[in-house]
Amino acid sequence: MEICIENVSMAYPNGKQALRDLNLEMKSPSLIGLLGPNGAGKSTLMKLLSAALLPTSGSIRVDGRPLAGSERQLKERLGYLPQDFGLFDELSVTQFLDYMAALKGLRDPKEAIRGVIRAVNLEEKAKSKIRTLSGGQRQRVGIAQALLGDPPFLILDEPTVGLDPEERIHFRSLFSRMAQDRLVLLSTHIIEDVQSVCGQLVVISRGAILFCGTPEQLIRSAAGHVGGFWEQDAAQEQGIHITARVNTGRGIRCRAVADVLPDYAEPEEPSLEDAYLYLISREARR
Ligand code: ADP
Ligand code: MG
Repeated sequence: MEICIENVSMAYPNGKQALRDLNLEMKSPSLIGLLGPNGAGKSTLMKLLSAALLPTSGSIRVDGRPLAGSERQLKERLGYLPQDFGLFDELSVTQFLDYMAALKGLRDPKEAIRGVIRAVNLEEKAKSKIRTLSGGQRQRVGIAQALLGDPPFLILDEPTVGLDPEERIHFRSLFSRMAQDRLVLLSTHIIEDVQSVCGQLVVISRGAILFCGTPEQLIRSAAGHVGGFWEQDAAQEQGIHITARVNTGRGIRCRAVADVLPDYAEPEEPSLEDAYLYLISREARR
C-alpha cells in the first residue's frame, strides 16, 4: 500500500486554514507516528486520508489512484479510529462490534469480532454494556472496531488517550506487530508512544510538516542544542526553552533547548522529547 499526498491544503468553511501545502509519502509496511501540538492539523490530515473530508486543493493518491473517486475502495481497506469516536452506550461490546462489522460488510463477523476482542484484551468485558466500561476500556473498543476485517491500512487518531501506562505498553506492541505487514499511521502527543516503535515520524505544527524521518534523525537534529544548568547559576535568557526542572539536594537542575546555548549550560545528549520540543519551540519563535 502506498499513499502519496501532493500539495494538499485544507481550509474549513469558516476560513480556518488547517493544512498548508503538505507533501508526504507513506508506504507499507511501516508504523508512522504523527506528532504535533494541539491544533497542529493531525486530525484534519487523518480525516483527509480516510476520505471523511475533501482537501481544498492538492491530491491524495492511493496505490497510484486518486482518492477522489475511489473512496469506497479505500474504505474497504481502511480501519479508522477517529479522535472523537462515539460509542453506543446501551449496546454491549459484542453488539457494538457486530453493528460495526455489518457496516463494513464483513462476511464472517463472529470470528472477526472474537479476534479483535482478543487483540485488545477485552474478553471478560465482551458482554458488558459499553456504558459500564472505564475510559481505557472504551478506547480499546474503539481500537477493536478499527481492527475489524484486518485492514491493510490503519489510521489511529490518538489511540492511547485514556489508557494507563500498562495498557499503553500493550498497545504499543500490538501496533508494532500489526505494522509488520500493514501501513499504520498513529497520532499522539505522547513521545513515549512513538519512541521505540515508530520507524518514521512526521512532526506537524500549524498545518505544515516540520520534520519527516526516523526518530534517530530527529534526535540528531537537536545535537548541540540541549543543555543542563543550575537554576541559581542561570541569567535571564532570551530564546531558551526550559524542558525540565528537577529539584535536587543541590538546587533546581534545569534542562533546556536553544539555538545557541548560554555558556553556563553544560551540553547534554538530546532525547527524542528534547528534539521534538526543540523543533516545536523553534517554529513557535518564528
Ligand atoms: P490536531 O488534531 O492536531 O489537534 P486539528 O486537525 O483538529 O488539529 O485542527 C487543526 C486546526 O483546524 C485547529 O486550529 C482547529 O481549531 C481547526 N479546526 C478543526 N476542525 C475544524 C472545523 N470543523 N471547523 C473549523 N476549524 C476546525
Ligand atoms: Mg486531533
